[in-house]
Amino acid sequence: MIKLKSPREISQMRLAGKITAAARALAGRMVTPGVTTGEIDKAVHDFIVSQGAVPTFLGYGGFPNSICASVNECVIHGIPNFKYKLQEGDILSVDVGATYQGYVGDCAATFAVGKISDEARRLIDVTRQSFYEGIKFAREGYRVSDLSHAIQEYVESNGFSVVREYVGHGVGAEMHEEPEVPNYGKAGHGPRFKQGMVIAVEPMVNAGGAAIKVLDDGWGVVTRDGKPAAHYENTLVITDGEPEILTVCEDMC
Ligand code: MG
Repeated sequence: MIKLKSPREISQMRLAGKITAAARALAGRMVTPGVTTGEIDKAVHDFIVSQGAVPTFLGYGGFPNSICASVNECVIHGIPNFKYKLQEGDILSVDVGATYQGYVGDCAATFAVGKISDEARRLIDVTRQSFYEGIKFAREGYRVSDLSHAIQEYVESNGFSVVREYVGHGVGAEMHEEPEVPNYGKAGHGPRFKQGMVIAVEPMVNAGGAAIKVLDDGWGVVTRDGKPAAHYENTLVITDGEPEILTVCEDMC
């Protein structure tokens, strides 16, 4: 069942979203050659706690950290560590969630480590833009797959591919609520968007083929062909007009 949020709940979710977006921005500012994803995770964790919020990912399904840190060919769900130092030319996807007074914010972005290749920059930019292409349809009168289709079209017209196995989702008191929000599919299917629906839209885009596999650690999802991947996500609410992005902060990623 899709839970529509009341204006009171949405104002609560704005607070959660703001903290989550600030956590993402903090992670982004830390991304530089030589830093470890473990250090970024710790800083983000401490920031979320300092805001009176709870890191949503920590312990979720047994996940051991507060951010997902996915380097290069890792698409999503990478486990942070203190061993690998980020290198010039890497790209790092950071996904973070914060729960504040019972409501969740969820967002992600891919960051460049120092100077990156033109292709990697294009991958990051296309992934981010595909989110904005998709949410043109995140309004009353459209169905979920209208958004899904727009993301797929934009990504594929730029020569990249969309991951199928993982999708966006409703957000509320739980991180994962109904409906599922795929990043691919034919237009005109799925639930209709209604005012008060809160969803996380999160294109996961591979530079090469769409195929992925899960690492032996049970979490990290990597591209099968070893080519890089990017991720971009915001939590947003359907209104009577343009969608309102809830995971915003002053230095929006
Ligand atoms: Mg999500």
